Amino acid sequence: MNRVTLGDFEVTAVSDGIYHLDGGAFFGVIPKVLWEKKVEVDDKNLVPTGLNSVVVRTGTQTVLIETGIGNKLPERMAKIFGQPAQLLDNLNAAGVSPEDVDIVINTHLHFDHCGWNTVRRGDDFFPTFPNAKYYVQEGEWQHAHQLQRDAPSYYSENYDPLVESGQMTLLQGDQEIVPGISVKVYAGHTKNMQAVIINSGGKTACYISDLIPTSAHIDLTWGMAFDLYPLKTIESRKQYYGQALPGKWLTMFTHDPNVPWAYVSKDERGKMVALRE
Ligand SMILES: [Zn+2]
Repeated sequence: MNRVTLGDFEVTAVSDGIYHLDGGAFFGVIPKVLWEKKVEVDDKNLVPTGLNSVVVRTGTQTVLIETGIGNKLPERMAKIFGQPAQLLDNLNAAGVSPEDVDIVINTHLHFDHCGWNTVRRGDDFFPTFPNAKYYVQEGEWQHAHQLQRDAPSYYSENYDPLVESGQMTLLQGDQEIVPGISVKVYAGHTKNMQAVIINSGGKTACYISDLIPTSAHIDLTWGMAFDLYPLKTIESRKQYYGQALPGKWLTMFTHDPNVPWAYVSKDERGKMVALRE
């Protein structure tokens, strides 16, 4: 199990399983001859991709960051991407039942980040984590309803039932959610994607989500074709590294199937490297 102690907090990486993305889409304008050295790729050009959630136990609260793909993807989507649906089993293995979760934070509302927010029973949708308060940026929720280029990635049943019942809070910008855990908007992947910054005992970790999806994407210009604002991705990464490198933050990767977190730094030639220790 991937677990670290961060000050007074216990932080555990919990996966919803592995799904598959087209390598070209995953690495945007980067030529395959470069990215195929860093990841596995099959004969359909698919790359195994992680679905990493993170549980933070603060001592008083249990906070779940991101909820994977879930178990209610439409069949045509499940055929393309797969639907591993392992999050609840893996939470259970980490000693967390759905009722234990006090807070759920979604970095954004693409289907592979908020799928377990709800489960279907009959024709209705219910919160998977019945006692939790859910959080996302209001701007992200509005974007989900505007049906723009990334419209196929948004499924209203993952968030609208929670907004309607008042269980999901729509945030306006950067905010502390519980003492030591705050969200910060980094535009690029979407306009209002938020990272989650975890701070305890002088140590900091950041779930940077799709701004830097895997340890193969740490170079400033290695963005995804999915990014709606690619130049903004570069700018936001610069801003993030400007804090994370000198502060020795632990960077948590949402889609890395092997490396849930690492310390990003620059080697002697100025190249970005991800170090486990
Ligand atoms: Zn996304």
